Amino acid sequence: MESFPHGRIQLPRNMIENSMFEEEPDVVDLAKEPCLHPLEPDEVEYEPRSSRLLVRGLGEHEMDEDEEDYESSAKLLGMSFMNRSAGLRNNAAGYRQNSDGSCSMPSTRTMVVCAVVLVIAISVIMVIYLLPKCTFTKEGCRRKNRTMELIYPIATNGKIFPWAKIRLPSNVVPLHYELVLQPNLTTTEFAGFVQITVKVIQVTRNIVLHSSRLNITKATLTSAGGRRAKPVEILEYPMHDQIAVVAPDKLSVGQNYTLTIDYSSNLSDTYYGFYRVFYKDEQAQKRWFAATQFEPLAARSAFPCFDEPAFKATFLIKIQRDEQHSTLSNMPKKVTIPVTAGIVQDEFSVSLKMSTYLVAFIVSDLKNVSREMNRTLVSIYAMQQKLDQVEYALDATVKFLEFYQKYFHIDYPLQKLDLVAVPDFQAGAMENWGLITFRETTLFYDDKTSSVMDKKLVTAVIAHELAHQWFGNLVTMEWWNDLWLNEGFATFMEYYAMEKTFPELHTDEEFLKLRFKTMMKDSLNVSHPVSSAVQSSEQIEEMFDTLSYIKGASLLMMLKNYMKNYPFQAGLQDYLYSHSYGSTRSDDLWDSMNMITNGTLDVKKMMKTWILQKGFPLVTVKREGKRLSVQQERFLRSVESENWTSDASSLWHIPLSYTTSNCSSFLCPYAYLLDQKSAVIELQEEVKWVKFNVDMDGYYIVHYAEDGWTILIDLLKREPTALSAKDRAQLINNIFSLMGVGKVSLLKAFQLIDYLEKENHPAPITEALFQLNLIYNLVEKRGMHSLTARVVKRIKTLLQSKIDQQTWTDDGTLSERQFQSTLLTFACSHGLGNCTTTATKLFTEWKHSNGTQSLPTAVMKTVFTIGAKTADGWDFLLDMYASSISEAEKRKILEALASTEDVRKLIWLMQTSLEGDAISTQELPHIITTVSQSLSGHLLAWDFVKENWEKLIWKFHLGSYTIQNIVTMSTFQFSTEAHLHEVKAFFESKSEETSQLRCVKEAIETIELNIQWMMRNLAKLEQLL
Ligand SMILES: [Zn+2]
Repeated sequence: MESFPHGRIQLPRNMIENSMFEEEPDVVDLAKEPCLHPLEPDEVEYEPRSSRLLVRGLGEHEMDEDEEDYESSAKLLGMSFMNRSAGLRNNAAGYRQNSDGSCSMPSTRTMVVCAVVLVIAISVIMVIYLLPKCTFTKEGCRRKNRTMELIYPIATNGKIFPWAKIRLPSNVVPLHYELVLQPNLTTTEFAGFVQITVKVIQVTRNIVLHSSRLNITKATLTSAGGRRAKPVEILEYPMHDQIAVVAPDKLSVGQNYTLTIDYSSNLSDTYYGFYRVFYKDEQAQKRWFAATQFEPLAARSAFPCFDEPAFKATFLIKIQRDEQHSTLSNMPKKVTIPVTAGIVQDEFSVSLKMSTYLVAFIVSDLKNVSREMNRTLVSIYAMQQKLDQVEYALDATVKFLEFYQKYFHIDYPLQKLDLVAVPDFQAGAMENWGLITFRETTLFYDDKTSSVMDKKLVTAVIAHELAHQWFGNLVTMEWWNDLWLNEGFATFMEYYAMEKTFPELHTDEEFLKLRFKTMMKDSLNVSHPVSSAVQSSEQIEEMFDTLSYIKGASLLMMLKNYMKNYPFQAGLQDYLYSHSYGSTRSDDLWDSMNMITNGTLDVKKMMKTWILQKGFPLVTVKREGKRLSVQQERFLRSVESENWTSDASSLWHIPLSYTTSNCSSFLCPYAYLLDQKSAVIELQEEVKWVKFNVDMDGYYIVHYAEDGWTILIDLLKREPTALSAKDRAQLINNIFSLMGVGKVSLLKAFQLIDYLEKENHPAPITEALFQLNLIYNLVEKRGMHSLTARVVKRIKTLLQSKIDQQTWTDDGTLSERQFQSTLLTFACSHGLGNCTTTATKLFTEWKHSNGTQSLPTAVMKTVFTIGAKTADGWDFLLDMYASSISEAEKRKILEALASTEDVRKLIWLMQTSLEGDAISTQELPHIITTVSQSLSGHLLAWDFVKENWEKLIWKFHLGSYTIQNIVTMSTFQFSTEAHLHEVKAFFESKSEETSQLRCVKEAIETIELNIQWMMRNLAKLEQLL
């Protein structure tokens, strides 16, 4: 056994990580030696869920578990073990003192004692030797060896890997990448060469960066001004997707170095990384297409890089390709040069400083249409045969680009902006700087087949991705815990820009619906703060949920409303301007806002209560004469007792808004900041009623105690328009939510919606249908046919006259057409009136015309759904699906196909989509969602998910939004103990990462809540209807 120099052991704690093993790493083969430098507890913040090598801190004087095991075993043997233990520790910790440890000049007494101890020790050793090896460990023989592993990451070549954290060190930072790629779309292989200019911030011999599944063949390092590139050793640690470049000499602080790496890999067959998909051209010929999707953590699978958002750098990208293909990247193409016969190389301009997850490139043979806008060339790329569906997207893009440039007061900084319709794509779209990728359905608009909802979707996604060009691309969150700074902002701007640019779409109603749904999720116990600590890849993936997007956006909307006397826009401009090409945390945004309010309104103090706490408040209002007492607590859909009390420590600074029966002055709505648990608001005069959270401009729900709800129910019956449509929708949402936790009776909730006979606005009716549908679904899936029929009858009574007024044409405003679609879908799915007859007639005519006769877009899906009920109709629709080139039409056909009651067809659909040939795999989540809605399909969908779980997580990767959605949708209607146990057992039988997924915990909590809901309300519902 060889000892190490003492100096290495005595490094200060904060130096150990960065300097560990930097000096003379080859003197001793560390993998074969006991460890010398246990990581300190405070150096290790996180233990990966599935870590084979749990990195655990051991203080210098701490005893490790094995020693403890040994110690307690020795005690059992009646042994005085202290010397032995110390010796053991010295051996284990090693090299801290002379190893001989003998007594110099021993006395006789000492020698006797030593002899006795020696005899005892030999006896004990014999006993230990004769006993089974694992006797003295808690978990068996492997623990001894694992102890060494627990402390040190081991590289693939057996050497110690010099970095133990998931996050990269900041001692070396990248400045510039030059990347050359040569993908072969036929063999699926690609060769790569990357040259990274790095700057050394702290002295080190190691450069640690990311690399995932790349076969590195050569690596060299050149110092600035150095003439010769020196070969360097590369250590790989796949568990953290990291490699370490071990330099021959120390790297000097402040110096730049150039690291070059040659490597190769395979194009991915998932939707993540640098991946390959196929599509069929006009002649039904298979064509290959390669694209990238790097967010959040996949740039590292295309090239070695510092794959964290804060490591911004510039990129020069070169792609070698077959002559018949073309390439796109973030920047405009600069030059194309021949390489070999049939192969050319495209070189793109050097990018602006940006994060790795925004790098993108595409190899394809798509075509484009373009338009110049203020020195920026805007282009939409699609397959040749679909180019006539992109005109709307081009118009919308130009409008939004113009809007954002004015609103932010910062020009879009690139000379070009490409929007590309990728034929097979997992997400909705991805905001890569200058090269935004889309699913075809989120980019194509076709007058004949796209409905109002389709138009809203395309508009919204473009608005969102364009907002990212500023929020996310120009200014980026420092780490994924603040993902909401990207996604919440882009979502907020998406709705704001649409309201200003396309007011006829009324997308604020869509936003309202999404807020209601997000609050359902946020009222679960397993919810999380908008800004949450994350480390592992699954945790990072899980941040892409509605809380980052919709809750983030709702909080910004609430802030904007509250800051109405201050220029919110100026705050945003300051934030963007001050942090351009940089990275931010939430506090940077609040600082910019506080600068605008000049200290008169402490935005930071208020917003921290919303960003750092999970959930949202329930405000209970009691009115006594002119006094309004308000009280806050967390709104939690608890599975505990009916008289729940929420976590007393929760406190939000709530910008309350309210209106009253006397509200006609310019002061309305009134505002009040509730920053205590409770408060009293004094009104100027007596009022008949009061309504809080005006137009739902705040992220909280309101309970009107005592006779508060009765007064509002009367108001709705007498004079519904005294409140805005959003307020009416919100009252419906709030009363049903409160009914779910036992604060309001089922009877009262149903009494409130009785006013719907007088309702003419889509927002409240849509919300009422949503709430009643939740109840309907639970009851239906329990096979209570008589009760489900009574639920439908109740809705029919309320809405019949409105359903009768609907036409089967595309006349009316966009809002009216959407309303028509909602009502007729409901009517046909429950066989009300003559809905089915009319739809069948339209379907028959359409079928006879071989699909050439146009159908009203508002009812197209309803007509297809009725048509798919017969075997003939279903087969015809399937043929049409194969031949249609309208994505909007295909989407509606697919939903109709997936809503059949024929279980064999449902299984075939899911299986075929998983295979990805006749139906692309990107559609599978949507098919599963549709199948899981129906009585005949919901158990099938769950079975399918169970049987194909491994394939699903391979294709869509664990924790992704798609997987979250599949888990939620395939389980949310279960309401029995048997299903609860089954869902729990299934996920527990999978990996630890799987069972720990937040969406899995949500699914379990939701089933528990459903069980509770049924126990509390089923008898009452039977009585009521
Ligand atoms: Zn986004």
